[in-house]
Amino acid sequence: MRRYRIHSLISVILIIGIILTGCGGPISHTSEDYASGLRVHFIDVGQGDSTFIEFPNGKTSLIDAGTRGAGDRVVEYINDLGIDKIDYLIATHPHEDHIGGLPEVIRNFDVNRVYMPEKTTNTLIFEELLLELENKDLTIHLAKGGDVIIDGGKLKYSILAPNTDNYSGLNDFSIVTKIEYGYNSIIITGDAEKNSEREMVELGYDLAADVLRIGHHGGKTSSMEEFLIAVDPDYSIISVGKGNTYGHPHRETLNRLQKIDSQIMRTDELGDIILISDGKELKWEENLGAGDSIKGQYIGNQNTKVFHHMNCKSLPKEGNRIIFESIEEAKQRGYRPHKVCIKEGGN
Ligand SMILES: [Zn+2]
Ligand SMILES: [Zn+2]
Repeated sequence: MRRYRIHSLISVILIIGIILTGCGGPISHTSEDYASGLRVHFIDVGQGDSTFIEFPNGKTSLIDAGTRGAGDRVVEYINDLGIDKIDYLIATHPHEDHIGGLPEVIRNFDVNRVYMPEKTTNTLIFEELLLELENKDLTIHLAKGGDVIIDGGKLKYSILAPNTDNYSGLNDFSIVTKIEYGYNSIIITGDAEKNSEREMVELGYDLAADVLRIGHHGGKTSSMEEFLIAVDPDYSIISVGKGNTYGHPHRETLNRLQKIDSQIMRTDELGDIILISDGKELKWEENLGAGDSIKGQYIGNQNTKVFHHMNCKSLPKEGNRIIFESIEEAKQRGYRPHKVCIKEGGN
């Protein structure tokens, strides 16, 4: 009965979203204030992805919020900036390492507009996200390539993908955004893979950018040669957790980035990475080791009483999960370690 109610709610929200979205939503025309500059924070959320943007016109945007365990850290990060509202919240695609922290974020901030791709899943975290949006009376705007969020002359925030609605994998539904400010530009790709990349190239979008937040944590089926040549980024940001068990970033991807002479910056090595632009030049700041305090590093299976590291490839189904802050906590609760992903005696 309960599931039925949630699923009808999902359809209602989606239908409302479709009705309200029309052809891309309102564009906010802004007065240009170059004094305050553009700041893009690639927040270190361990395995996952989260980007917070402070636009020179005073608006803000959050793209994803890492895993459920990273939600607190993203909230704290934005609070520490003295910011209490998110004008444009973007959930690139419904994978847990992107939307996991969003319910916590929505509970803590005033959110203005929400953008999601036209794609649903039936995971608990996705349903929780929809319920949280409903609690706050927020509608979902279905984003697609060509939509423009901000068009203020020298400041532009636009959407380059998704460009169709029937990809085989969830990752290719990722909302891809481009920020342009004066002479500087940044593309943020979520987990978009080669199908979406190829479409963006073929559709003739202006893909040239100084900075590329590369797709799918450096996985080998993203950042294909033709896309990288079109973007030709001076800098490539990879958002990836320490000791990642998916093998991200992939050697082949790193080789392709080296071939185009792009400087690689990784959150697992640099912590939070902050880009500042005055519309002419880019500056970087780093916040070393910032992601070490993420909660929920360990995930137990309530049926088998085995617990895993959050990066393990064989995590239990979401409905069976219990989250622990530490190995000690998991053991105290009677769980035993999964030998493949928990190396005891090490770090
Ligand atoms: Zn994904
Ligand atoms: Zn991901």
